[in-house]
Amino acid sequence: DWICDLRDVVKSYATARAVDGVGFQVRRGEIFALLGPNGAGKSTLVRMMMGIIPPDAGTIHYRIDALNSNGDLMAWPTPDQLGYLPEDRGLYRDLNIARTLSYFGQLRGMARIDADRAAEEWLEKIGLADRRKEKLRALSKGNQQKVQFASAVLHRPAFAVLDEPFSGLDPINQELLIDWLRELRDQGTTILLSAHQMNLVEKLADRVFLMSRGREVLSGTLDQVRRRV
Ligand code: ADP
Ligand code: ADP
Repeated sequence: DWICDLRDVVKSYATARAVDGVGFQVRRGEIFALLGPNGAGKSTLVRMMMGIIPPDAGTIHYRIDALNSNGDLMAWPTPDQLGYLPEDRGLYRDLNIARTLSYFGQLRGMARIDADRAAEEWLEKIGLADRRKEKLRALSKGNQQKVQFASAVLHRPAFAVLDEPFSGLDPINQELLIDWLRELRDQGTTILLSAHQMNLVEKLADRVFLMSRGREVLSGTLDQVRRRV
């Protein structure tokens, strides 16, 4: 049972073919890791999955609602169904972090009271509750990164797409992020994340898609990929 299906996706920029015929399915309830070195095409793929740039060729289909799996194959997800951590982290640097989180929750369709509550829960979880009135620009890069992550998932989307969520975090916070991602999955969010560090991915991914220069190198469960690397 898949939630997102990509087939033969191609994308070229003026100077390079960034994605060169990639296909995979993200299954409902799993953590799916897009693994590859810098320049492999991960962010380009993710931006196409989020509808930010169109593919030159190929298809991207969603089936967010399992109950509707017979119809509506072509329906694009609604904003409340998706969570997105972009590669270029754009947050409101002059807004306090509690308001930032609540704002992102409301953008994703939450009522204000629910968004405020979720914001407070996340501030506790990421260890910034006592700094809730501070502006984002006052925080360290790692703390900004944690706020950015929370802003992408606090509405508990059906499908979260996270571009390099581990980057900028120290090892302790990387371990915490692994816990939060597992928790999110166990609460029913399907997760696709991109990364270039196998050692982090192997602690939590159910399946891995390894790419290089815009193409698939290997894919499968962690065990399958380990045996072939
Ligand atoms: P990754 O996320 O795996 O690092 P990217 O998707 O960012 O890979 O990049 C894939 C290739 O496309 C690289 O060669 C990169 O230089 C190129 N590229 C990415 N974005 C652009 C862009 N906006 N314009 C031109 N080339 C780009
Ligand atoms: P500021 O005074 O800096 O503008 P606010 O007091 O409005 O900040 O708080 C920012 C966000 O946090 C708002 O969405 C608000 O509803 C919520 N909020 C404020 N105080 C609390 C609190 N004690 N517990 C939970 N949420 C709060």
